[in-house]
Formats: sequence, structure tokens, C-alpha cells
Amino acid sequence: TPENVAVLGLGDMGRALASALLAAGHRVTVWNRTAHKADALVAEGARRAASPAAAIAASEVVIVCILDYADIAPLLADDGAGAALEGRVVVNVTNGSPAEARVLAERVAGLGAHYLDGGVMAVPDIIGQPQAFVLYSGAEAAFAAHRGVLDAMARSVYLGADPGAAPLHDLALLTGMYGMFGGFLHAAALVRSAGGNVDAFTRDLLVPWLRAMADSQLLAMAAQVAAGDYGATGSHLAMQVAHDGIGDVSRAQGVSTELFGPLWELMKRRVADGHGHESLGSVVELLHAGAPPA
Ligand code: NDP
Repeated sequence: TPENVAVLGLGDMGRALASALLAAGHRVTVWNRTAHKADALVAEGARRAASPAAAIAASEVVIVCILDYADIAPLLADDGAGAALEGRVVVNVTNGSPAEARVLAERVAGLGAHYLDGGVMAVPDIIGQPQAFVLYSGAEAAFAAHRGVLDAMARSVYLGADPGAAPLHDLALLTGMYGMFGGFLHAAALVRSAGGNVDAFTRDLLVPWLRAMADSQLLAMAAQVAAGDYGATGSHLAMQVAHDGIGDVSRAQGVSTELFGPLWELMKRRVADGHGHESLGSVVELLHAGAPPA
């Protein structure tokens, strides 16, 4: 069923979200600080609001997508916007920290509205497509009640009542991604240093290899990290650090080991600490000394 949805903030992401909502048949009211960015959406059928307050007043669900968290509170305080928020659902997909999400959730609750924090795991181009997803945390009843609106933008994943959960998991996914990108950069430098074809190497060898390793290794390591038990392994740390093949060959090829070096040092430290019989997963204990759940 069509709902009345406001979108505040029409940068690259806000425009993509508003466009997907229109395509799904929702009644969309848009506002942007720089008004002309709404023009194309208005041509697609969106209504233009003169202020955040006017957009909020016209809508049950208010999507907020601007650059910085710090600018949201003034926006919601502006020109009667706060009063208009009563009974609305605020879905804030602006990137920020868990602490910022909790503070804003309190503020929104204080204005009589419900709060969902969202972490968009997509670039604007793939909004509305199956591989895009958004992490949500906060008011569960609001998530369930407006699932149709949320699913029109991307696949929706609810992570719990703590508003900080979505931003934390968003950042965890990003650091996982950057680790993979770092691995790619070192591998590409090594292949290029030997005159190899980085294109073919990446397509035919690296991507299939990373897929195989993700499927076979990450879930096994996750179970070990969750249990705090790193015993069961077919390739223990002492074996892995016995020879610095990656470092030696990289240096010989004139390739920097700045990306791989920190992980290598942690692996060696873990062995020096007497954990050589354990799997790579046990390195997590050097990043965060957490007691495993009972
Ligand atoms: P853009 O830089 O394209 O747009 C920024 C938006 O914020 C514009 O609408 C801008 O308005 C508005 N804005 C900035 N400052 C203020 C202010 N003080 N008051 C009111 N509006 C303001 O950024 P994106 O759309 O790409 O990103 C928006 C959010 O989405 C960010 O938090 C980003 O981290 C997140 N995100 C973006 C992704 C991406 O790939 N683009 C992916 C995942 C998350 P104006 O037009 O007037 O300048």
C-alpha cells in the first residue's frame, strides 16, 4: 500500500532513495537545502516541500539522508519541524557512530516520534536492486509497520532495538571490505611488478580464490571467535609464520609490505605468546581482549 514518505536530503544517495520510493508507488515529498536538486524528482512525481517542517507534516515516514549527523538536530529543530514530528517515524540513514545514533534516537523520542537508524550498504546506482541492503536498528514496531517503504529502497535487515547496532555493523562490514581491498592492492602490485596481467589475474584467479576462502574459512573462523576456542585447524599459526614468503618476495620485487606488515606482526606476536598451535582466528584476541560468551 502506498504511504506518504518524506525524504530530507537529496544528495546522490537521497535522490536514489526518493526515486526508488516513487518507482514503488509511494507518495514522496522531498526537501533539500539546495532546492534545485529536487527538480528531477519532481518531474518523476515527487512533491516539493519548502521546508523540513512542511515535508514532515505531509508524511508518516521521514527519511533523513544528509552528509553529517551534526546537521540533523538543527534540521529537526527548524521552523516547527520538531512539533510536526509527533507520531512520525524517523528513518535516519545518514552515516554516523553508534553513540550519535543513540543521542538522536533519544531526541526524536522526546519529540513523540519513533526512530530507526539505517546503514545503507549500497552505492546510489544499485539502490532498488537485489544486491543493495540497508541495516536497521531502533524501534522494532516501526520497522515492521513500514516494511513496505523500507523494502522499496533496498532489502531491509533489522538488527535490534539498540539504535547503535546499525552503525556499528555498517562499520564492521566496511572494515571487512577494506581488508579485502587491501589484500587486492598488495596482490595487484606484486603481479604488476612481475609484468603480469592484473586484469586477468584478478578475474580468473583472485576473485575465485577470495570467494573460495570466504566460503571455506570465514564461517569456520567465526565459530572459533564466537567460542573463543582456536584449537581445531588444518593450518596453525606457527606453520603460517615459519617463512616470511610474502614479505621476502615483495621486498625482492620492490613491492611495499605496508599493508600486509601489521597482520604479519600480529601473527608472529601470537606465536611468541605461546599460541602457535592455534588458528589465524586467535589473532582476534590481540585486537580485543573479550571474554567469550559462556
Ligand atoms: P552528498 O554529498 O551527495 O549529499 C549531501 C547531502 O547533505 C545534500 O543533500 C546536502 O544538501 C545535504 N547537507 C549537507 N549539509 C547540510 C546541512 N548543514 N543542512 C542540510 N542539508 C545538508 O552525499 P550522499 O547523498 O552520497 O550521502 C548522504 C549520506 O548517505 C551520508 O551520510 C553518506 O555517508 C551516506 N551514504 C552514502 C553512500 C554513497 O555511496 N553515496 C553509501 C552509503 C551511505 P545540499 O545539496 O544543499 O548541499
